[in-house]
Amino acid sequence: MNASASSAAIANTDLLKVYITVDVEYAGMAHIGGAKADQIPDASMECLVDGKPMGLTHVVESFRRHGLKATFFVEPMASYRFGEAALARTVKTIRDAGQDVQLHLHPAWLTFKEGKRHSDRLCDYGPAEQVELIRHGKELLEKQGAEIVAFRAGGFAADDRQYQALRELGIPLSSSYCLGYRDQGCEIAGFGERNDVFPAQGVWEIPASTYRIRDVRKLLGFSRKPLQVGCTTAGNARRVLERAGREGMRCLTLLLHNWECLDRAADDWSWKPMRTNTSVAREFEATCAYLADARGRWRVTTFAEAARELGPVPAALQAASGSARTASASRSAGRNGAPTVPSLNRIYVPM
Ligand SMILES: [Zn+2]
Repeated sequence: MNASASSAAIANTDLLKVYITVDVEYAGMAHIGGAKADQIPDASMECLVDGKPMGLTHVVESFRRHGLKATFFVEPMASYRFGEAALARTVKTIRDAGQDVQLHLHPAWLTFKEGKRHSDRLCDYGPAEQVELIRHGKELLEKQGAEIVAFRAGGFAADDRQYQALRELGIPLSSSYCLGYRDQGCEIAGFGERNDVFPAQGVWEIPASTYRIRDVRKLLGFSRKPLQVGCTTAGNARRVLERAGREGMRCLTLLLHNWECLDRAADDWSWKPMRTNTSVAREFEATCAYLADARGRWRVTTFAEAARELGPVPAALQAASGSARTASASRSAGRNGAPTVPSLNRIYVPM
């Protein structure tokens, strides 16, 4: 893509883009004790509740019914615990449905390969180690036929150094930033408060979206929430979309996991027998139905398409990205005719 095409891509001449993103990983380990070894990965990935799949296949099937495209950020390091064949089945399930596979990383699974404990937080590793970890995960997925153009750190536990790693590896897109996870693991701090696509050290960051909601525990205050299926009703997803459209945002990113429809009420939920959270399952279905009914108001698309549409970060924005100067530098770039990048778009959801 040439520079002018890149400009057009972020000049918001297009509809609001909606990225549905699914972090795909193993969860719900209680059944392991009673399962045969070769049944463990599928039972966990599929979140079998009384034999009924409420995990990956349920999510894939829901999108198929509603005709929705999605990006699945697949965690490949768990193959050191559950085997390469299990990873192959996961990737095949997603790709056979015509959906997009990208890279998610929980380095703790390397403990099973190397026999020593690994931190699960990418930001706990040095710059060179981050490059190697992401390269390692990328190669595991490429072996399964995936073409990796986007990365999301496990638990959003990334810091600013991941962008240098992604640039070194030629991965043009990140989705490791989420304001809603700022106090819960996300250590990316050098870009101010962003809630829309922005350039970060030569990489496009498409954040997992965050909205604000009036919080009765804070009297007149607000709480931030990630735009995540497990904590966002279909009604609030609708309000966020409408607000984003009015504010001229370029994109929104919805987050869920393959295990999102499980009941996770207890702290140790992952070690208890799996049960469906019927409320979340119902809201997920309603959110899918709403997103599918775009009526020309938004376009549901994938990170693979975003990589093609955005192209490389233009040189004028590369120089400005990655420092506290970003917002003002981008604004002045806009006055000079270069692409303008949005600063913070807060979304207030009336309650
Ligand atoms: Zn994860």
